[in-house]
Amino acid sequence: MKILAAAAVLLLAFFSVAFAAPATAPTARDLPPGLQIPDAARPGPTFDVDKATEAYLSLLSPEQRAQSNAYFEGGYWLQLWTVLYGLVVAFVLLRGGISRRLRDTARRFTGRPWLVTWIYAVLFVLVAFVLNLPWSIYVDFVREHQYHLATQDFGGWFGDALKALLVAAIVMPLLLVAIYAAVRRAGAHWWVWASGIAFAFALFAMMLAPVYVEPLFNDYKPLREGAVREAVLSLARANQIPTDHVVEFDASRQTTRISANVAGFAGTTRVALNDNLLDKTSQPEIKAVLGHEMGHYVLNHGLRGAIYLSLLIAFGLWFTHRVGDWALARWGSRLGLEGRADPAALPLAIAIISVFFFLATPLANSIIRQMEAEADAYGLNAAREPHGFAMAAMRLSTYRKIHPGWLEEIVFYDHPSGYARVHGSMLWLKENQDNPTANAPGKQ
Ligand SMILES: [Zn+2]
Repeated sequence: MKILAAAAVLLLAFFSVAFAAPATAPTARDLPPGLQIPDAARPGPTFDVDKATEAYLSLLSPEQRAQSNAYFEGGYWLQLWTVLYGLVVAFVLLRGGISRRLRDTARRFTGRPWLVTWIYAVLFVLVAFVLNLPWSIYVDFVREHQYHLATQDFGGWFGDALKALLVAAIVMPLLLVAIYAAVRRAGAHWWVWASGIAFAFALFAMMLAPVYVEPLFNDYKPLREGAVREAVLSLARANQIPTDHVVEFDASRQTTRISANVAGFAGTTRVALNDNLLDKTSQPEIKAVLGHEMGHYVLNHGLRGAIYLSLLIAFGLWFTHRVGDWALARWGSRLGLEGRADPAALPLAIAIISVFFFLATPLANSIIRQMEAEADAYGLNAAREPHGFAMAAMRLSTYRKIHPGWLEEIVFYDHPSGYARVHGSMLWLKENQDNPTANAPGKQ
């Protein structure tokens, strides 16, 4: 019990730090609807990329910029606190004997190792959810409301959290049963097999997510009728993307953010626009964002991303293997753990791999940011809407720090910064000043 009390004190300490973050000023965060092309960004003989970029950047007031910086920079610290919180949870589960007791409970039902793993994993997912709940309430609910980014009341938010728990309680045990089978059979090479399993599992999960998981949280339907639909479907046809694979969804249920995404794999791949994008922005912005998403689709970023990130996961599993065996030799018997094939040692493995991924954050972010930059370039060429893309980048910059230092961008950004995107749009515009789509007068 002493352990639990110490853990509670630590958690309280985290929370006092977390909640001490300054409340946001009552600054309106959203930029007004519609395209706002600054005079310095209009094409002409004196067009200057840097001046045009600066003119776009000053669409954000100093207060809006300060609020965006505070939210985003606070997120840097949250990544550290999240890892530390997870380590405390792992410590409580191991040192408090909870993990061991979960495994013993599983053994009371069966002697089959795979079934013991499965029962342990289901119990582990439930217990981890409860222990992580205070932290996720702060990060995903309280803080999002402080910055006016969330739209759900607590009941709605918690309902979604329970649905995510249900998905995790189905998916995680299946994955862990496969990985622990590899741990039992492949000895010191388990991490190679586990990497292959993780890759196959990722593709399978990507394929099923748009069909079975995403509809649990939002309503997906064909794009609403109107001029925007025609423009978007025309862009899709021109890029050889099946038009029945372009849909909209009601993200405004959860958030005020504008966004779009590509999800799925093989036959289930589709482009989804959120309703905030459709409701709060202009047609050039929607086309520009769609052009970006079509870049992900056409450049096959789903599969490529899964391959790159699986290589990183393989490193992470090897790291877990080496550090895990060392830790088990040192503390295993004192904690009642029977070796690396013992599911009761799972919190230890998760603690180690979470530290690995924390340290690998700059690499993971750079892998993703590289693909995002490719999609940006594709989107500018496909949609030919530099003002639309610059304006959308400005809207995203109301909650993403717009102009980070170069190292800051490498370490913390999984997308090009707002500055990089506006600058890229203005570079494109400079070379395409006679482009009629980009420069139609007074269009919305
Ligand atoms: Zn993207």
